[in-house]
Amino acid sequence: MKRRLGNPGVSVLRLSALFGMTIVAHEGHGGGVLKQTMPGFLLHWMSRYEHVLLRPINWLARSDWAYRFEPTRRFVEWTSRRVKNIVSGEVLTLDEVHSMLDTLFDRGETVATGTCPCRRARNEISDTVPNNTDMVFGRWADEYVRNYPGLYHRLEPDEARELVGEFDRCGFVHQVYGLRHAEGAAYVLCNCDRSVCIPMHAQRDRGIQAFLKGRSVAAVDTGDCVGVEECGACLARCPFGARVERNGRGWVDAEACFGCGLCVSTCRGEASRLERREGAGLVYTRELVGP
Ligand code: SF4
Ligand code: SF4
Repeated sequence: MKRRLGNPGVSVLRLSALFGMTIVAHEGHGGGVLKQTMPGFLLHWMSRYEHVLLRPINWLARSDWAYRFEPTRRFVEWTSRRVKNIVSGEVLTLDEVHSMLDTLFDRGETVATGTCPCRRARNEISDTVPNNTDMVFGRWADEYVRNYPGLYHRLEPDEARELVGEFDRCGFVHQVYGLRHAEGAAYVLCNCDRSVCIPMHAQRDRGIQAFLKGRSVAAVDTGDCVGVEECGACLARCPFGARVERNGRGWVDAEACFGCGLCVSTCRGEASRLERREGAGLVYTRELVGP
């Protein structure tokens, strides 16, 4: 059941990304520093008026005709590559999210939450799952709270930890978006519902890479799997189609896996786990999350 929102808007970070977690045990946080170098006036204006600029982009991303014709498809892909050089996302596990939040709170950074910009852009507010899944931090969060006091509020550490746990149970993918592939240049943690997330839609249905894989990959001990017919939770939970049935058991397509960890926490046979993907690393959150 979805209801309509009266005043839709959208985050520049997520929509711009259209056009442009071994399990990491909670080993303690990384202790890094948030490096949000966007000039103050841009922070202010972008957080305040970005939806005015970005609604047409959202419309274009969802317009089938733009991908049907070669020139428009090429134009969208060309634009998305360039914007991705400026804005992009990376997938985190829940443990990595906890580590990052610990670092941010220890550093005295503001962490705030508000309505998911993709829901606002699509004018879809859910009656059944959480809507306030946008978690902004640092100076970006200060601007959001100042500009939209009715929509965004500051979080205490316990509240933030509880919220991300709830998002994980809902099957929402944790992604951090940042600027220019610079270490520490992280601005927002999106907790993405696959049914409304615009970057996930672009990635899955348009082949536009709007965010990067995390540093983990799922693995399964098929001998411990209770069977897809009896369970099948991993197939239902994976937003990227990376869990598939093979010989009646849950299997992992490692190439398709983004390392979100959603299939691990609900594995009935405790057959699924995360491993560190060889050669993979985080960019925006490496220092915030730690090793
Ligand atoms: S298989 Fe799917 S749900 Fe599991 S970690 Fe990979 S992307 Fe996430
Ligand atoms: S969630 Fe675990 S037990 Fe269930 S089908 Fe998948 S691998 Fe097997």
